[in-house]
Order: sequence, then structure tokens, then C-alpha cells
Amino acid sequence: MGLDFAELAGIASPGQFVMVRIAEQRIPLLRRPFSIHNSVTAHNEIRGFEILYKVVGQGTRAMSGLKAGDVLDVLGPLGNGFACPEGIREVFLVAGGIGVAPLYYLACFLDEHKAVSPHVFLGGRSAGDILCHGSFESMGVKVSITTEDGSLGEKGVVTSLVEKAIQINGKPDIIYACGPTPMLKAISDIAASYDIGCQISLETVMACGFGVCLGCAVEKACSPGSYLHACTDGPVFDSRAVMIDAS
Ligand SMILES: Cc1cc2nc3c(=O)[nH]c(=O)nc-3n(C[C@H](O)[C@H](O)[C@H](O)COP(=O)(O)OP(=O)(O)OC[C@H]3O[C@@H](n4cnc5c(N)ncnc54)[C@H](O)[C@@H]3O)c2cc1C
Repeated sequence: MGLDFAELAGIASPGQFVMVRIAEQRIPLLRRPFSIHNSVTAHNEIRGFEILYKVVGQGTRAMSGLKAGDVLDVLGPLGNGFACPEGIREVFLVAGGIGVAPLYYLACFLDEHKAVSPHVFLGGRSAGDILCHGSFESMGVKVSITTEDGSLGEKGVVTSLVEKAIQINGKPDIIYACGPTPMLKAISDIAASYDIGCQISLETVMACGFGVCLGCAVEKACSPGSYLHACTDGPVFDSRAVMIDAS
């Protein structure tokens, strides 16, 4: 969905998110978080941004019925976004399903501002969960696909393919990942065992998005019992900084 909001898009960076609800009906009551998927430009000027969403409940169902010109209540950009250290050349982007949403914006940023062409790994349960592969391919980046049922790409889980690529081609300088918690846990374990820097974007349930409700607490790895918050400290974290509860 494209949003006509140049001011927000002009200051947003990859990994940041917006809180959204439908303005007039205030549906849902609490705004929902969505990653910025891409910025939209026309005549070389930033006009707005896109979000890519999966229909799972009341808010996204209502969003899917919107028409061009409808008005949304949007807060953002929020959160920290991905950090891109100087000198990174070999970059893996690892997405599980709708977790591809912030990684496409990151791939565009890396291509445009860092002259880096990442290797993109897309995983899902079946072919319908694999999104944006055409957009990545038209950017000229390498795309590897896995599905658990083998309906597209290699059969299996995306993290196994990432590990295979490391064993065959060597370590990347950094891994960026977004997707379901078990996938993030697996990719964090792989990054740790090969000593690779890894940033994960957590889709922790949150109510406000700006540090007031404190509902999106994430336990610190170095100090169990103390917490960071996905909305203000994240949603992007160094994979070694947080405990990932994949249960
Ligand atoms: C920082 C951030 C960025 C996000 N970016 C995107 C995005 O780009 N695209 C996208 O489709 N979604 C994204 N999400 C997830 C999205 O915000 C939720 O799916 C949202 O709750 C959907 O609203 P809803 O009203 O349709 O469903 P709800 O009524 O909120 O939820 C429907 C069902 O999904 C469950 N659920 C809701 N959120 C989560 C969650 N985070 N993890 C596990 N289960 C959950 C609920 O418990 C409920 O069972 C993001 C979440 C975060 C925190």
C-alpha cells in the first residue's frame, strides 16, 4: 500500500516503522506497526512510502478494503533502523515470509548509497509466502529461495541455505534478518557460530510504538531480568544483545 506522506518518507531509514490505523473509523483502536517497505519517488522527488502487509486480523483486514484517497492516521518514522557499518561488502539479507518488508528498503539503500549488492535469501512455508523476488531480481541482486513444501526454490528452511552458502562461499561481512522468531533464533545461532555480525528486526507485539506502554519488552542477553524495548531500542537489535525466545 502506497502512502502519500513525503515528509515522513524523506526522513525515514531502512528498518524503521510506522504505526497505522484508519483515520475516520479509528480502526483498529490501537495503531498497528508496519515496516517501511520502500520510498516512492516521482520526478526525482520523494513523494511517500510503501508498506507491505499480510492480512492477519482486524486492522490489516480493514486496510485491505481501503481505496485510493482514503485517509490513514500514521505515526512515524519510529524505531532505530538497521546500522550499516563502513566497509561492508558481502551482505546477506535473510527474510522469512512477510519479514521481507523492511529488507527490500534496506536492499535499495545498500544499492543506492553503499554500492553493495546483497545476497537475498527468501524463505517461506510455500510459494505464496515468497514475496518480492521479482523486485530483488530486477535490482540485479542474487536471490536464493527455499520453501518448506518445495513448491518454489529449494525444499527446506532458509537458514539451512544460508549456512550452506557460508560453507561454500565463505562468511559475509554482516547478516540482516527479519521473520518469525524461530528463524531469527536459528540465524542468530549461525551468526554466532561463524562469528558474523548479525542484526535482527523483531516484530514484537506493541501497543504504542514510542516507549510509553512498555509492552514490547525484550530481555537483554547480557543481563537476564533487565529489558530493552522493541519500539525505542529496536526494532533492530544486534543478535547478541537480546534473548530470543523461540518457544
Ligand atoms: C516493528 C514491527 C514491524 C512490523 N512490520 C510489519 C510489516 O511490514 N508487515 C506486516 O504484515 N506486519 C508487520 N508487523 C506485524 C503487524 O504489526 C501485526 O501483524 C499487526 O498486529 C496486524 O494487525 P491486525 O489488527 O491485522 O491483527 P491483530 O488483531 O493485531 O492480530 C491478529 C493475530 O496476530 C497475532 N499477532 C499480532 N501481532 C503479532 C506479532 N508481532 N507476532 C506474532 N503474532 C502477532 C495476534 O496475537 C492475533 O492472534 C510488524 C510488527 C512490528 C512490531
